[in-house]
Amino acid sequence: MTKGLLQRFDDGETLLVGEGYLFEFIRRGYLKSGALVPEVVIEHPELVQNMHEEFVHAGSEVVVAFTYYGHRYKMNVIGREDDVEKLNRNSLRMARKVANATDTLMAGDLSNIALFDPNNAEAIEMTQAMFKEQVIWAKEEGADYIIGETFNSFHEASLALEAIKQYGGGLPAVVTMAPTSKKTTLEGMPFGEACRKLKDMGAAVAGVNCSRGPRTMVPFLKEMRQACTGPIAALPVCYATTPEAPTIQILKDRNSGKFCFASNLAQHHCSMDEIEYFGQSCKEIGVKYIGLCCGNSSEYTRHLAEILGKSPPSLRYKEDMSKHFIFTGGKLSDYYETVKQAYLNPDD
Ligand SMILES: [Zn+2]
Repeated sequence: MTKGLLQRFDDGETLLVGEGYLFEFIRRGYLKSGALVPEVVIEHPELVQNMHEEFVHAGSEVVVAFTYYGHRYKMNVIGREDDVEKLNRNSLRMARKVANATDTLMAGDLSNIALFDPNNAEAIEMTQAMFKEQVIWAKEEGADYIIGETFNSFHEASLALEAIKQYGGGLPAVVTMAPTSKKTTLEGMPFGEACRKLKDMGAAVAGVNCSRGPRTMVPFLKEMRQACTGPIAALPVCYATTPEAPTIQILKDRNSGKFCFASNLAQHHCSMDEIEYFGQSCKEIGVKYIGLCCGNSSEYTRHLAEILGKSPPSLRYKEDMSKHFIFTGGKLSDYYETVKQAYLNPDD
């Protein structure tokens, strides 16, 4: 039987979680940017299964059901509210199937709901109802734990956590907040304090995910580590955010100066060195729930797995430039030495 989430932390393990399906399916032409609703679960389930398998092959130890933005509000935005239960159950069953076949964990997934408004009692009730039905479906379809993610507001994060506690049948909750360009939650609460409060309220793991890349997320990890005990989570986007542009929402095109979010971000993809910086930072700070969010691909996940000392099957295909016909490092024929120099020395 697959070892449970809490037991893994008790045993001192680090958990690697591959996320970022939404952007990857947009890149592949199967989802609509802007709407960001995981319709591909219904239209092309075989592709979702394949992506789950690919991420596990790369080192993910969790199959996160692709229900991100699959809640009732978002389904209504694209005119498919009638399909909300079908999408959730199909996605959860698919994730369960892959997790069973690969001896990994399966997680249900809640996300922020754009109708939430802390000053509107009706909006709060509707948000709670949407969390509730998704938690019940995740529980019924056999999730090992339930994620609530990308909340800008501590209030909304706490509603998701309460729903998991109330309707999740005792399943562990992993709740992560998405930092904006500010240094606190929308309420002005430092992330360390938000993390501690979520854990005090019963979250097995609390932390941050999405919006920020490694360089601008790591400072929050130190803050959270100082503020609370037990496992904390970090899942940055795979884009090179900077102190001047700390989130992907304000990264700009190098030539035009226009905002890149969401479909023009490729020019800002993280280097492998930046992924390594993130992995090493997590090890030094003591982050135990580690993943990658928007912009992730199996290649990044494999690299992070290796940095964390894991040995996923895809490491078999790790780059080996000694096998390259020009960059072998060994002696080249006169002809290939000429070819190499032609590559390395551009004309003026
Ligand atoms: Zn993300």
